[in-house]
Amino acid sequence: MAPKAAQRRAVLAGLLAATAVAAVPGQSAPFALVEIAPGLLVYPGVHEDFSPTNRGGIANLAIIIGDDAVAVVDAGGSPAQARELLAAIRARTDRPIRHLLLTHHHPDHVMGAVVFHKAGARIWGHLRLPSALADRFPSYRAAMDRLLGPASVGAEPVPVDEPVAVGQPRALDLGGRPLELRAWPTAHTDCDLTVFDHASRTLIAGDLLFLERLPVIDGSLVGWLAVMDELARVPAARVVPGHGPPAASWPEALAPQRHYLEALAAAVRRAIRSGRTLSALLADPPPPAGDWLLSTDNHPRNMTAAYKELEWE
Ligand SMILES: [Zn+2]
Repeated sequence: MAPKAAQRRAVLAGLLAATAVAAVPGQSAPFALVEIAPGLLVYPGVHEDFSPTNRGGIANLAIIIGDDAVAVVDAGGSPAQARELLAAIRARTDRPIRHLLLTHHHPDHVMGAVVFHKAGARIWGHLRLPSALADRFPSYRAAMDRLLGPASVGAEPVPVDEPVAVGQPRALDLGGRPLELRAWPTAHTDCDLTVFDHASRTLIAGDLLFLERLPVIDGSLVGWLAVMDELARVPAARVVPGHGPPAASWPEALAPQRHYLEALAAAVRRAIRSGRTLSALLADPPPPAGDWLLSTDNHPRNMTAAYKELEWE
């Protein structure tokens, strides 16, 4: 359907926008893992757009180490970044990397997946992840080749060995380290998956939670707000957001994103009720609620997505 396709292109464009508004000097240089709880490490993605320098490393990635095995949550934005992640894990433990858990299909989370697939990891994802990858991977690969250069060489779509359905959480044990994988109804995207690490009471939220960097809507604004209500009930002590610091307090960390998305929905509903067209709204848009990085292009794109969704209410 045309509006959906346009929205997808807009979201991709948002992810790929060329201006690195909030690059933090020095942040993209060394590959550093932060241990946020015993056996739970996070690679904090930089708040930049894709570039050859960051090799697509703009999303947070997590590693969970059990007594028998290691699980990796999201594979990074390129095979080059994934190889660095693999080396960083190997420097830390020789336990086998048995599982790659993909939180959704966006390029900063999946373009390195082939590296872990070839290393023997089983791949887990939302039941709808395979079709999302089939749909989008070719355009993501072309964009990454252009934006990252050699870092994206070898990126391939991967099979999803263990699909997770909405309403049917799956358990996975790394050896004294049980995890729960949960698939969600359409929110940030139509294939969002979260991981709960019981041992550390940590929720790894993927892009169902953005901190610091403006949330991007590629699924449903109304759906995302509803999913956040349910997410808030997850009994976690902390969260690893898809973008933002390596960890934050839970459920307090939901507040800034909720504030932004609720204000966006309210502003767009007001505009629709008063008969303002989308172009009139975009010509004089209300600013994003809250302090966000990389909002210049993404806020108007979110407004467009919200308008197209809410005009049919
Ligand atoms: Zn995403």
